[in-house]
Amino acid sequence: MNKKLVYSFAEGDGKNKKLLGGKGANLCEMTQIGLNVPPGFVITTEACLDYLSADKFPDGLMASIRDAIGGLETATGRKFGAADKPLLVSVRSGSALSMPGMMDTILNLGLNDETLAGLIEQTGDERFAYDAYRRFIQLFGKVAFGIDDEKFDEHFNDVKERAGVKADIGLAAEHLRAISEKFLLVIRQETGDEFPQDVMRQLQLAVEAVFRSWTGKRAVDYRREFNITPEMANGTAVNVCTMVFGNMGNDCATGVGFTRNPGTGENEMFGEYLVNAQGEDVVAGIRTPRPLTEMEKEMPEQYAQLVELRNKLEMHYGEVQDYEFTIEKGTLYCLQTRNGKMNAAAQVKTSVDMFSEGLISKDQALLRIEPEILEQLLHPTLDPDSSDEPVAHGLPASPGAASGKCVFDADLAEKLGNTGEQVILVREETRPEDIHGFFAAEGILTSRGGKTSHAAVVARGMGKPCVAGAEGIDVDVALRMAHVGGHVIHEGDTITLDGGTGEVYLGAIRTLEADFSDDLRTLLEWADETADLKVMANADTPDAARRAREYGAMGIGLCRTERMFNASDRLPIVIDMILANDKDDRKAALGRLLPIQRKDFVEIFTAMAPYPVTVRLLDPPMHEFLPTEHDLLEQIENLKVYRRVVRGRNTAIATLDHAVKLPEALEELNEEFVNDALARKERMLRKVRELEEVNPMLGHRGVRLGITYPEIYEMQIQAVLEAAMECAKQGVDVRPEIMVPQVITLQEIQHVKRTAGRLVKALEAESGKTLNYKFGTMIETVRACTRAWHLAEVAEFFSFGTNDLTQATFSFSREDAENKFLPMYNEMGVLQDNPFEVLDTKGVGKLIKMAVTGGREQRKDLKIGICGEQGGHPDSIQFCHDVGLNYVSCSGPRVPVARLAAAQAQLRS
Ligand code: PEP
Ligand code: MG
Repeated sequence: MNKKLVYSFAEGDGKNKKLLGGKGANLCEMTQIGLNVPPGFVITTEACLDYLSADKFPDGLMASIRDAIGGLETATGRKFGAADKPLLVSVRSGSALSMPGMMDTILNLGLNDETLAGLIEQTGDERFAYDAYRRFIQLFGKVAFGIDDEKFDEHFNDVKERAGVKADIGLAAEHLRAISEKFLLVIRQETGDEFPQDVMRQLQLAVEAVFRSWTGKRAVDYRREFNITPEMANGTAVNVCTMVFGNMGNDCATGVGFTRNPGTGENEMFGEYLVNAQGEDVVAGIRTPRPLTEMEKEMPEQYAQLVELRNKLEMHYGEVQDYEFTIEKGTLYCLQTRNGKMNAAAQVKTSVDMFSEGLISKDQALLRIEPEILEQLLHPTLDPDSSDEPVAHGLPASPGAASGKCVFDADLAEKLGNTGEQVILVREETRPEDIHGFFAAEGILTSRGGKTSHAAVVARGMGKPCVAGAEGIDVDVALRMAHVGGHVIHEGDTITLDGGTGEVYLGAIRTLEADFSDDLRTLLEWADETADLKVMANADTPDAARRAREYGAMGIGLCRTERMFNASDRLPIVIDMILANDKDDRKAALGRLLPIQRKDFVEIFTAMAPYPVTVRLLDPPMHEFLPTEHDLLEQIENLKVYRRVVRGRNTAIATLDHAVKLPEALEELNEEFVNDALARKERMLRKVRELEEVNPMLGHRGVRLGITYPEIYEMQIQAVLEAAMECAKQGVDVRPEIMVPQVITLQEIQHVKRTAGRLVKALEAESGKTLNYKFGTMIETVRACTRAWHLAEVAEFFSFGTNDLTQATFSFSREDAENKFLPMYNEMGVLQDNPFEVLDTKGVGKLIKMAVTGGREQRKDLKIGICGEQGGHPDSIQFCHDVGLNYVSCSGPRVPVARLAAAQAQLRS
């Protein structure tokens, strides 16, 4: 088997990210489109997997690497391991998917005592050479031998202190030489061996270390958190690239850039650079870098090259790029580029802008955004009217606002975060190993580093607020405290961050709901034009209906009328209805509910006009409106105690020889009052016991209730119809739809339909006007799926209640499964997803398909939708599109997500 394991940048296929990793493929592509990339080669992900499975270098790999190094030597006129013009390389990881900072990188490889001398001679810059050497030794020691940074930092800080120097830049050649020598000692102490002087051996060890980093904790955690499966990225490629130096003097620089502002999406030069520095200085936040815009004045020629580079990148990739560059002696090199990670607002803005600039099509503009990320736009911001003064100001590194308790390390952040505590991770600077702290934190605050520092990039990717490089903040992790302005914050104190302005406040500050931007509106309008599926909302109140409309809902797919019963002005009437001794009593209570429901419907219909509103008739079992038996027993006991108190008090007053006047409230709470209350509670208790069922969710609920107590559905239908009539009179374009829950048979819906027909007739006769409404059923029982053909004889629409249908298909109790065994099932891989969140297309989906086919065979124009929770999940939406549903209905805030997902489903099919 003669697999090619190494490709030069000039020959690798720039589209084959699986084989060459994202970074490697891009370096090939960048080279091949004529960008100034230093010569290099890629070792494939297949080589990595072979290495990991056999625990040794694959046959022929070392020979191919030698050949490729030969190629670099020819291209650069340098020699690997030679004193004369030594060739130095960087060795970087890069898998198919970008995992920023998750794996390892080694720079300046190829330095040893001999080439170091050559480098000094060639550059005439001893300081530069020793600086390169000490960086290499440390990185190599860390990555290849797993030696902690602290071991090196101790010596580094020691020399710095003795030299009386604050910033690294102040160190002279002799200091850096001393540091290098100490670092070589660290290697000897820690490994028991000398630092490898053979450059090919250095290269082999480095490549092996990068391969191994694929299975390191950081990388594994990252893949788990972001659900990166082996199908998406398997193994890391290794990129070996000729070193170019940004730290050879003041005509050198290094920086990172985004082709647009990743925090706002603004079309502007964005990024940071440092003169006379190496790339890691910018990312690690050790020196605070300067904004790219300042480069225009400082290095105008190179700035012009940079603008050209940025334009070329966007033109070629049609996507915002996150790139790294180095200027060596006045020449600009592009070292890497990848799709820029942006927050939701920036993704939306760049989609709309890049379309209007002609860089991408509308379809691309819609497809490049993960629908789920739109939820970020609904994140709160700080109340602008708040009078609180910030105590510190940093760089606005990732927008959004968050409050939480300060925590000074990632482990504690994770621990507290997992218990539900809201925490802010506060660090001097963050490193990739802090990633678990990010997942747990509400926001991140660092005292050092720029907008492209690790903290900033990771927080933006996660949509979490981050303030970086906050001046006036001095973090002391050891003492678990920070000095902020003139204040001292201890671990556990609450602070608030505004990642949009970079401000830090003491205490918690009021936040405001996010607003829809014009760009988001535009994007979602495009989505609506593209999508086949309509997106409706599950909304039960006039307020929720108005909000859903703002989110762009095209109607209400599910109005759960029982939620209207629970408001405090209605519940006592509902209870009266339940406690009624006979039909007349029940009707009397329902008569009091009718005007209330009608009023709600009028408001909801008006808010949604001219879109349809699907009203579902009462569904839950009656006992849900009553207190539990346990609560009632307690209340009864307390009332009895209180009755004894009242009796005792009355006796006491009677024995007094002077008259006592009780306060009015106590007068009212007399024995008669308590007796009445007790009688009602006891009636409730009897009712609760009478209604008790072993499996209430499989019991007396839904249409079964509607048939046993026809007056309930009668009142509800009457309220819907009267409201529709009232709206129509006011010129509101209403489209009510009446939906029956829990149906299993045609006879059930025929029964309810007859009631509706009778009421419509009467209303029409009375008003002389016709009433347009639709009558349909939920499909949420297995039997309904199998009998869909029959149900469609009467039902004009179907709505899949996938909450109940999932429960029925899995035989899982939807109330208990998620708290008991489902998380474990997911963790063990017994089930891939939570089926109450993501539609189980294989099982439940099969029933849905059966019902769609049956229903449409009976009634061609049968309208079909879904209203279970899964209706707002992008994968489920794709399925709904594929099986030909007409709409999905989901909770209001999910509507924007669903609108985009519906468009993507159409574009992908
Ligand atoms: C369903 O079962 O999917 C549904 C929407 O109804 P509910 O959740 O109210 O039972
Ligand atoms: Mg249901």
